[in-house]
Amino acid sequence: MKYSRLLTKPSKTAPAESDSINAKLLIQAAFVRQEMAGVYSWLPMGLRVFNKITNIIREELDAIGAQEILMPALQPKENWEITGRWDKVDVLFKVPSQTDREYALGPTHEEIVTPLVGSFVHSYKDLPVAVYQIQTKYRDELRAKSGVLRGREFGMKDLYSFHASQEDLERYYEVVKQTYLKIFSRCGLDAKVVEASGGSFTKKFSHEFQVITPAGEDDIIACSACSFAQNREIATYQDGADCPSCGAKLQSVKGIEIGNIFDLGTKFTEVFKLAYTDEQGERKTPLMACFGIGTTRLVGAIVEAHHDDKGMVWPKEVAPFSIHLVSIAGKDATEAARVIETANALYDELKGKGVEVFWDDRDDASAGEKFAVSDLMGMPLRLVISPKSLEQGGVEFKERTATSQEIIPLADVADRVL
Ligand SMILES: [Zn+2]
Repeated sequence: MKYSRLLTKPSKTAPAESDSINAKLLIQAAFVRQEMAGVYSWLPMGLRVFNKITNIIREELDAIGAQEILMPALQPKENWEITGRWDKVDVLFKVPSQTDREYALGPTHEEIVTPLVGSFVHSYKDLPVAVYQIQTKYRDELRAKSGVLRGREFGMKDLYSFHASQEDLERYYEVVKQTYLKIFSRCGLDAKVVEASGGSFTKKFSHEFQVITPAGEDDIIACSACSFAQNREIATYQDGADCPSCGAKLQSVKGIEIGNIFDLGTKFTEVFKLAYTDEQGERKTPLMACFGIGTTRLVGAIVEAHHDDKGMVWPKEVAPFSIHLVSIAGKDATEAARVIETANALYDELKGKGVEVFWDDRDDASAGEKFAVSDLMGMPLRLVISPKSLEQGGVEFKERTATSQEIIPLADVADRVL
């Protein structure tokens, strides 16, 4: 991708109103565009990050046997009346039709997935089964805030599993917990598993996955030495107390919730009258668990966790491009021609080898402007070709997080970045 061809160019100044780092940087770099409070368009650069995240999620969930489906955002009111949640969920968007009917815009999908799975599960041989989707969800938030962290329209991955026994549910719950940690780690996030209440949602227990950052909205009591952590809402320990697992001091910290998992028991399978025949020929109600990851929120959480005063710092696996190539032609026509020719050849070579390169090919921007854009957009690696770098024998090579750069021969570039 060349800068000159990119429709959605970054802005030189930060947006006037932004209540969070992720909104400020994502909007200024033109990764997203705010359409109204809590509703965003995803632009080419932001969508590349989003797609990388969802591909990681797909790979990891497919690997634990979950099957991808896609359910509707527009849902029948009747199903929400069956679960009693039509009037109970205050953030439910209710959509009136010209036919006098009403629909829900789904903030979650138990009302659809439970009868859906029920229509295919008849015998113990059909269990366990797990389905997931990557979908757009809606919440009628009174206050949409914190950029893409809390929107009225947002992306979610929701996984639902169905089991014949509590032991099997708990086994799979643990498998998903470990898989989630792997997903977040691949996204460059160090997520803490936090014990939380299930609220009205669940029968027994739930866990949240929290990224500890001052930008977080949730209060967590966490151990400074081990993985012990509780949401403040249910915390049985106070700030400064000894950790029940390792004895180190507990601290009060802020977290961004990027995932949550619930044991739902038979709460939904009973009301939708799901049943399977067990090995003895008896009719039984399957148990159910649900597992969420906020996909668009994850993009914001990564920015909150990985930025500096110059811009975003994308972890390698989710960066929109691996390389930000900068050509600085200079004033001399012969030198300029050589720089452009060299940059073009390197761009083609790397692309040919499957490396994702973004080339700032502008001829009307200064080196300073190009470096500022490169820091703002935050690709992991910056390569600079200029008369000076060519004179010194090649290409200037700098990691986004490094404070100094080095010159490497042109012929070595592909090996260094692959
Ligand atoms: Zn501890």
